[in-house]
Amino acid sequence: MQVQENHSLLHFNSFGIDAKAKYFSRFSSREELAELLSLPIAVQGPVFILGGGSNILLTKDVDGFVLKNEITGIEIIREDEDHLYIKTGAGENWHSFVMYCVQNNYAGIENLSLIPGNNGASPMQNIGAYGVEIKDVFYELEAFHIHDKSIETFTLEDCGFGYRDSVFKNKYKGQFVITTVTYRLNKKPRFNTSYGAIEQELQKMGTKDLSIQAIAQAVMNIRSSKLPDPKEIGNAGSFFKNPAVNKKDFETLQKEFPSIPFFPFDEVRVKVPAGWLIEQCGWKGYRKGDAGCYSKQALVLVNYGYASGNEIYQLSEEILQSVKAKFNIELEREVNIVGK
Ligand SMILES: Cc1cc2nc3c(=O)[nH]c(=O)nc-3n(C[C@H](O)[C@H](O)[C@H](O)COP(=O)(O)OP(=O)(O)OC[C@H]3O[C@@H](n4cnc5c(N)ncnc54)[C@H](O)[C@@H]3O)c2cc1C
Repeated sequence: MQVQENHSLLHFNSFGIDAKAKYFSRFSSREELAELLSLPIAVQGPVFILGGGSNILLTKDVDGFVLKNEITGIEIIREDEDHLYIKTGAGENWHSFVMYCVQNNYAGIENLSLIPGNNGASPMQNIGAYGVEIKDVFYELEAFHIHDKSIETFTLEDCGFGYRDSVFKNKYKGQFVITTVTYRLNKKPRFNTSYGAIEQELQKMGTKDLSIQAIAQAVMNIRSSKLPDPKEIGNAGSFFKNPAVNKKDFETLQKEFPSIPFFPFDEVRVKVPAGWLIEQCGWKGYRKGDAGCYSKQALVLVNYGYASGNEIYQLSEEILQSVKAKFNIELEREVNIVGK
C-alpha cells in the first residue's frame, strides 16, 4: 500500500485516456481502505474510487486521491433448496466471476457475460444486458462510508435500483466505497433467450440442449462481433442511456418518423434506442481526430488512439444537441464523467 504522486491513469481506464491522478493508491482490504482514508490527502479530499475503469471518462487530470479497489474473494455463504448466496470482494473481475458461476452451474448471470469491470461497480448502475440486470440476482452489499468511517449493509430495497441507476449514482454519490457484493444465484436455471439475437446465435451454434453455458457463449459471440474491444479501441460501452419518452410525445414523433423503433418501459413511457437516434443524426462512423462514434454501433463513442477526454466529451455534447434538435429528446450520459 503505497501512495504515488502524479500517477498515470492511462492503463486504468478503458477509454485509454492519458490523464494523471494527483495521488494514487491501491487497497486490498477494508482495513487498508480505512487507513488510506484517514490520511490528510483523503480527509482534505476529493477522493475517487476506481474499479476497472470501464465506465468513466476522464476529462482532465484528477486533482485528488484515486483509490483503486482490489478487494478479492469469492465465498458461498449460504445455500437453500433453490439458491446459493455468494459473497464477493468488490475488486473481483466481473466476467471472471460470471465464468466461475457458469462453470459451476450457478444460474442467473450468464446473460451478463463479457461486461468489463469489477463486481464492486456492478450495483452502481445496476449493470444489465440481454434482458437481465444485477437487481435480478442482487442480495446485499457492504459499503464503507468515506467520512463517517461506518460500515453499512444495503439490501435490494436500499439500493433503489432503476434502469442503469442506483442510490450510489444519486443520493449517495461519492459517499460510499462498496467493499463486498453478495449475489443470490439459482440452482435451477431459468433461461432467458428472448432478448436481442440470442435465439439466432444459439441456432447458429447448433445448440440442441439449452444450458447456461450455451447462453453465455452465445452472448459472448454476439458481444464480440458488435462491440469494440477496449484493448484495441478505447471505449466505455454504451455512452448514453436509452431515453424514456412519454407515450403521447412518442405518438407525435411516430407521425414524423414512422420507422422510429421503441420498446415498452412503463405505464406512461416507452424506451427509444439511443443508438438509432444518434445514427439518424448522421454520427455513426463519424471521426474527428481520434475521437469518434463507432461504425458498428452509434451508441459507443471511441478513442482511436490519442483523443483527450475533453475531445470525447465535446463530441458527446454535439451528439446530445443534434438529437435534441432533430427529435426534441434529451439524451442522458450513461458513462460517469470525471472532471466536469
Ligand atoms: C466494451 C464495454 C461494454 C460494456 N457493456 C456494458 C453492458 O452491457 N451493460 C452495462 O451495464 N455496462 C456495460 N459497460 C460499462 C461497464 O462495464 C460497467 O458499468 C461496469 O460495471 C463498470 O465497472 P468498473 O469496475 O470498470 O467501474 P469504474 O469504471 O471503475 O467505475 C464506475 C463508477 O463506479 C464507481 N465505483 C467503482 N467501484 C466502486 C466501488 N467499489 N465503490 C464505490 N464506487 C465505485 C466509480 O467511482 C465510478 O463512478 C460496458 C463497458 C465496456 C467498455
